[in-house]
Amino acid sequence: MVKKKTAEVSFASSKVKELRRNATLPVKYERMLAGFPLEKMFKGKTVAIKIHVGGDIGFTTVHPLFIRMLVDAVKKAGGDPFITDGSGAMQFAKARGYTEEVLGAPLIAAAGISNNYAYTRKINYRTLKSVDLCGNIVDADAMVVLSHGKGHGNSGFGAAIKNLAMGCVARDSRAKLHKVQGENFVWNSELCSRCHACKESCPSPDAISFDKDDNLKYFEHGCRYCRHCETACKTGAIKINSHGSEYFQRAMAMTTKAVLDTFEPGRVLYINVMLNITPFCDCWGFSSPALVPDIGILAATDIVAIEQASLDLVKSEDFIPSSLPESMTLGDGNHLFQKIHGKDPYLQVACAEEIGLGTRKYKLNVVE
Ligand code: SF4
Ligand code: SF4
Repeated sequence: MVKKKTAEVSFASSKVKELRRNATLPVKYERMLAGFPLEKMFKGKTVAIKIHVGGDIGFTTVHPLFIRMLVDAVKKAGGDPFITDGSGAMQFAKARGYTEEVLGAPLIAAAGISNNYAYTRKINYRTLKSVDLCGNIVDADAMVVLSHGKGHGNSGFGAAIKNLAMGCVARDSRAKLHKVQGENFVWNSELCSRCHACKESCPSPDAISFDKDDNLKYFEHGCRYCRHCETACKTGAIKINSHGSEYFQRAMAMTTKAVLDTFEPGRVLYINVMLNITPFCDCWGFSSPALVPDIGILAATDIVAIEQASLDLVKSEDFIPSSLPESMTLGDGNHLFQKIHGKDPYLQVACAEEIGLGTRKYKLNVVE
C-alpha cells in the first residue's frame, strides 16, 4: 500500500501567551508568511489575492489589516498583487474598509465590470456540464486564497474550497452549482392540506414558510435534511432527497480543481482566517456572534490539508451556546457545523482529496 503523504499546515493561534506586541496574532501571522517561499512562488508574477468581500452590513469578514500585511508580503517577494472577488461583490468592498488606499493593492472585479469576462471549462458532473471561470483569476500567474472560515447553509462549512468554487465563477455558474443539488425538496401542492404541521416540526427558523396564498416556500440554505417535515406530513405532500449537499460539495470540489488547474504547480498559497466563526456565510450580508472562541490563522500550500485542519480545530473548540439565534437548536452530527446545518462539512474535503487536490493527512506547525 502506498503511504499517504503528510502536508504541512502552519498555524498562528489567536491566543496571546503574554501581553506584548510580539505575542499577538498579526506578528505571528507575519512570521508565518515569512516561513513560505514567497519569492519562489510570486517573484515577477501577477498575484490574485482572492477574498470574500461579504455583503451589506456584515462585519465579520477578514479584517483589512491581515489583507494589507499579505499585500506587503507579496510585494516584498517581488509579486504584483491585486485583490479580487466576484464582480457583484465589489459594491460592498468600501463598507468594510476594502479600498486600494487601505489594502495597498487595486481591487479588481474577478469577471470584469460587466461580470461576463470568463473562460468556460468542462466539469461534467450531474447537471453541471461546465463552469465559466472568472477571467481575471485565470489570467493571473499566481494566487493567494485568503478565506474566512465559517459555517455555510448548503455545505456546512465555507473556507478555501468555497472561496474558489463559488467565488471564482461567473454569476450563472454559481446558480448552476446550486442547482446541482437537484430537487432535494419536492412539495406537491395538490396533496397539501395546508395544515402547516411541516413548518411546526421544522427545527430551522427559515427552511419552510408559507406565502400569502398559503403555498409552501422552501429555503435550502436553512434545511438540515432532518426530514421532520416529511414525517410530520400526513398526506405525503413532501418528499426529501438528502443527497443534495453531497452533490453540491462534490461539485464545489470539482470546480475548485478547474480553477486550480489554471495555475502552474507551486503558485497558490492558502490562508484560512479562523476568527469570528459565525454560523452562516458572509454573503448573507449580516453578522451574528461567533460559535466558538477565535482560533487563529492557518496557511498551507495544500488546500485539502488546510481545510481539514481548520475543521478539526473548530471541532476541538468549545461551542458558545448563546451564539445561536434563539430560534435555532443543535441537531445530530459529528461536527458543530453538521449539528447546525445538517450537512457533513468534511464531505467537500474528502471529495477534494479524492480528485487529487491534496491530502487530509497533515502536520500542524505552530508559529510562536
Ligand atoms: S428536512 Fe428538516 S430542516 Fe429541512 S425543511 Fe424539513 S423539517 Fe425543516
Ligand atoms: S405537513 Fe404536509 S399537508 Fe401539512 S402543510 Fe405541510 S406539506 Fe401541507
